[in-house]
Amino acid sequence: MAVIAFIGNGNMGGPMAANLLKAGHDVRVFDRVPEAATKTGGKVAASIAEAVAGADLVFTMLPAAKHVKEVYGGSKGVFLHAPKGALLIDCSTIDVDSARKLNVDATGRGFAMLDAPVSGGVAGATAASLTFMVGGSDEAFARARPVLAAMGKAIVHAGPAGNGQAAKICNNMILGISMIAISEAFSLGERLGLEPKTLFEISSKSSGQCWALTSNCPVPDIVPTAPSSHDYAPGFTGDMMLKDLKLAQMAARGVRAETPLGSEATAIYAEFAERGHGHEDFSAIIRMMKNYAGKQID
Ligand code: NAD
Repeated sequence: MAVIAFIGNGNMGGPMAANLLKAGHDVRVFDRVPEAATKTGGKVAASIAEAVAGADLVFTMLPAAKHVKEVYGGSKGVFLHAPKGALLIDCSTIDVDSARKLNVDATGRGFAMLDAPVSGGVAGATAASLTFMVGGSDEAFARARPVLAAMGKAIVHAGPAGNGQAAKICNNMILGISMIAISEAFSLGERLGLEPKTLFEISSKSSGQCWALTSNCPVPDIVPTAPSSHDYAPGFTGDMMLKDLKLAQMAARGVRAETPLGSEATAIYAEFAERGHGHEDFSAIIRMMKNYAGKQID
């Protein structure tokens, strides 16, 4: 069993650290909000330096790139305090360029590093059923895999550094676009006199089938576990979807890839956030649709 530092113990990092503990690892946790760290059940460290002392692996699960850069590169950060030979694994969702630059910095300081963002949300983090998309060397991936298996059920090596983040933003661009597509189709269907339950029954068994429809259906009371059936309590917030869509647009500009639907989805989720609904589940986007007969938002 390994000595593991886990930095960032919020909605995702908290249950992930708890699952490492459950698997028998010696887990030291650090969060700038001490109560978040306490909830994990791991040994609460007073600083990053204390958390990473003697660690075989260091995990981070932080909101955005600026936090990740600070936690690794800052004067109190991981690069200065982790033992040489520790494997560094960032599970946060950040932009591809920052992930690649961080990997170069880590390598220059003698560390192996992986970007390993996840899909599956808080439910997946709690149930240890996350999908990990991993970027980095074959050797580092082989070393990380058995530890990642305590937190996820699909662990995929996406290629060299940054490719985990590339996979994550491409996947979430599909998700954002498909949620808008499902919302448009159900709103149109209602205008045409189709019962939403009937359209669901048909589309969930037809070529329109996708996760946004069958697991996260935006129309309430069709899928009992979907956030829409619980007043759109997240789930995955509109703000997080907007963050990932913006990362995808940033990456697309960098490589001159055309993503017209990704661009439109970004504009739609930006409007959703501007109207004050970014804290709701991203499926609440259906309430912005002009044809939707259910409760619309202002
Ligand atoms: P969160 O805000 O709940 O947790 C982040 C934690 O990091 C907080 O507890 C915060 O106090 C801590 N933190 C921030 N800066 C810090 C610092 N300098 N030092 C120590 N701790 C610090 O966020 P989350 O929902 O757990 O998401 C984390 C990452 O996972 C994000 O990049 C997000 O995009 C990604 N993600 C989230 C979900 C989801 O459904 N929540 C799903 C997939 C991926």
